[in-house]
Amino acid sequence: MGMAFLWAVTAGYAFQQTALIGMLPVLALHLELPPGQIGLAIGAGLIVSAALAPLLVGFMTRRRLYLTLALLILTSLALVGLLLAPQPVGAAFVILLAIRCVQGKAAAVILAITQGASVATARPVAALAGGAAEAGSGPGIGGGADRAFDPFVYRIADDRHGNRCRGQCIPPDARDAGRAVRNPARPVPALAVSPGLALSGAGRGRLGSVGTWNAACTKPPTGRGRNYRRPVPCSRLSCAAGRASPADRARHAHRPGRCDLGHGAVVAGAVAAAIAAGRRHGCRGGGLGPDDRAASGAGHAIETGPGASECRLARLGPACGPWRRCWRRLACLAAWCICALPDGRCAGPDRPADLPEISMTRYDLLGIGIGPFNLSLAALADAVPGLRCRFVERRPRFAWHPGLMIRGAMMQTSFLKDLVTPVQPTSRWSFTNYLVESGRFFDFMASRQGSASRAEFADYMGWAAHGLDSTVFGDHIESVSHDGQGFTIAAASGRTWHSRAISIGNGLQPNLPDFAQPGPDWLHASRWLDRKITLAGRRIVVIGGGQSGAEIVLDLLSLPDRPARIIWISRRSSYWTLQDGAFIDQFFAPDYVAAWRQQSAPARHAVLAEQKYASDGITQATADAIYQALYEHRRQGRRDVLLRPGREVRAIRRRGARQLIESRVEGSETPEYCEADLIVRATGYRQTFPDFLQPLAGRMQHQPDGALTLNESYRVIWDGPQDTPIYAMNHGRRSHGIADPQISLAAWRSAVILNDLTGQTLFNVHPGGGTEPMIDWPGRQVASQPEQCTIATAMRRSAP
Ligand SMILES: Cc1cc2nc3c(=O)[nH]c(=O)nc-3n(C[C@H](O)[C@H](O)[C@H](O)COP(=O)(O)OP(=O)(O)OC[C@H]3O[C@@H](n4cnc5c(N)ncnc54)[C@H](O)[C@@H]3O)c2cc1C
Repeated sequence: MGMAFLWAVTAGYAFQQTALIGMLPVLALHLELPPGQIGLAIGAGLIVSAALAPLLVGFMTRRRLYLTLALLILTSLALVGLLLAPQPVGAAFVILLAIRCVQGKAAAVILAITQGASVATARPVAALAGGAAEAGSGPGIGGGADRAFDPFVYRIADDRHGNRCRGQCIPPDARDAGRAVRNPARPVPALAVSPGLALSGAGRGRLGSVGTWNAACTKPPTGRGRNYRRPVPCSRLSCAAGRASPADRARHAHRPGRCDLGHGAVVAGAVAAAIAAGRRHGCRGGGLGPDDRAASGAGHAIETGPGASECRLARLGPACGPWRRCWRRLACLAAWCICALPDGRCAGPDRPADLPEISMTRYDLLGIGIGPFNLSLAALADAVPGLRCRFVERRPRFAWHPGLMIRGAMMQTSFLKDLVTPVQPTSRWSFTNYLVESGRFFDFMASRQGSASRAEFADYMGWAAHGLDSTVFGDHIESVSHDGQGFTIAAASGRTWHSRAISIGNGLQPNLPDFAQPGPDWLHASRWLDRKITLAGRRIVVIGGGQSGAEIVLDLLSLPDRPARIIWISRRSSYWTLQDGAFIDQFFAPDYVAAWRQQSAPARHAVLAEQKYASDGITQATADAIYQALYEHRRQGRRDVLLRPGREVRAIRRRGARQLIESRVEGSETPEYCEADLIVRATGYRQTFPDFLQPLAGRMQHQPDGALTLNESYRVIWDGPQDTPIYAMNHGRRSHGIADPQISLAAWRSAVILNDLTGQTLFNVHPGGGTEPMIDWPGRQVASQPEQCTIATAMRRSAP
């Protein structure tokens, strides 16, 4: 009976702990909360439970404990059900809280029993004072508990027998000193219950934590009146703490592999560590990270760093559906936890013998940041046999300007200008293939959209980003160094990669002009949807007359909770729309880039300035929608929206809770003022020199604003060896023109880079194929036969 009870309690606890650990990645996905927060909440819950444990000691009867156990299992099942069933986040949260309250209480009771035994007795399990005389005489959790339980097989150590094992390994000479109790044949249960906690039977009517159990280093007696004890692995910690005899240390120190810390705090620690590890391993969000996939598929692991290389999961098989992925995530976390024993090694005896070999792979290319540009490179590189690439992104999942993913926002570029199609239309990572795979091809075509919505395009890119094997999420690159042979790329997690070439794709930074000193009542447009500020009844000023400012104004106009006033200030003389048309589109074609690059620096500069609104205006659709909404406002008699173009903001002054904005009207020195409760700075983005490149800063050419200087093939000009190139995305407005920050030429640029990296013509980067271009742009290499080189000639030829 006692054993059955012990097993039941243990199994219940194990179940609860497993659910707790296992639910983390699912929770992170489901509630879209940062896992750090979830870990913190659960860790805090566990600490509170542990702290409450002593209070519960003494009130327990076996009956209550059974009930508690049943409750625990039921709530854990409910929790699993909740996590797997789709429902609104709010409802999920409330139900989750309710379940956790009940479950937490039940867990605390169990904890009270398991931990209370050791705490209250203040002595280890170990040495078994045998005999009926001792049975029942050991110190207990409390009178109530003692009376309530059947005598267990083992009893708590008794000082009288000289086996003082308070947290220490039993000396060798004491091993045979104890006396046996009953049931010589019965083995001792010592079950690893969770990565950081184990339970084992101990004492009469009590359970002891494994910390004390293992500290005893004995196997309990197996027969009343007989002396029988056999050493079991000593607690690595207690041995390491210096309290073990040298002999024991020698004997046990090489027996790691048991999770024998045995305290709630350790569980909390393990949970937090598991989250961190999950993030490192890409176990969170989009399923297993590529490293795990690589480990399971290709048979080798690739990077170095704590916990990274040794704890691979080799045998998880390919993901083939949400269920499988879910299990893979759980398994990944669990495996990490097992590996996260104090010595940081995979537990010797528990480690599968057939884990893949670990090797230090040197990549051909490592991309930093996974925005559309590096993603395009990753998608094209995917089809290049033998090319070893890694792309590392700090976000846990792919996201494309999430703070500005305003409902209804449309792409400014055709969906055919996706990650791959312009240079490799047969790639599986095309937008059309995404539509086909998601079963929406015909519906999309029937919608007659000229371009996709930004949300759908972001979803497409996420589909590619998480489908590619070369991507790693949730790790922030902190530094890049060069050892003469190649690059060492170090991430915040401690992982490092080695690569022959790197590709900088970390994007632009929010531009905050001098007048924009940070304050509580302002936000940059890039965080528009992340705002936690109430807008209803407040005076809101949007600064910036580009697309972001326009989208935010449109969003404000459609809010059900109206702001008291909306003012839209723009330095531009009007709310300029994008220049559009076939000839404008030519600016975003390879031939134009090639011609533009041949012009003199002043000519290039002048052309760039002239082209501003070909890339930086408001889309016609957005401008029209704003105008129509404003018209409707005025028709209803509302005068709470003010448009102020041609104003340059000079200063923002704080007046109590309000902000006073000073601006100058174009062509006048008279200042103009307006008050705001909230300022939105839609002031664009700027180039910066990436922090992680600081170790190499002195060796590369860059502009005063931090933009890296590029050659024709998007190589950064630096003094390193030519066979270890640095490529940079979104740094080439000066060197490659107006198209550089746009998606239009992203695939083409990736093709240029891959050709350059491999020294082969993998992709045709001359789409014209050497035929006469339609337009003879200034700067184009003039052919010898003048009649073939003029636009007039070309037009004459194409005329009917
Ligand atoms: C709201 C908006 C809409 C746009 N719409 C269009 C459009 O329709 N058509 C068009 O052609 N262009 C558009 N653009 C312009 C351009 O296409 C985008 O800015 C594009 O996202 C640029 O891609 P990127 O890869 O350079 O950078 P980003 O998309 O900014 O991605 C950079 C990534 O690098 C990561 N990162 C940064 N530092 C590190 C680090 N140290 N370690 C790891 N990861 C790091 C970031 O987390 C980020 O995910 C738009 C821009 C904006 C702001």
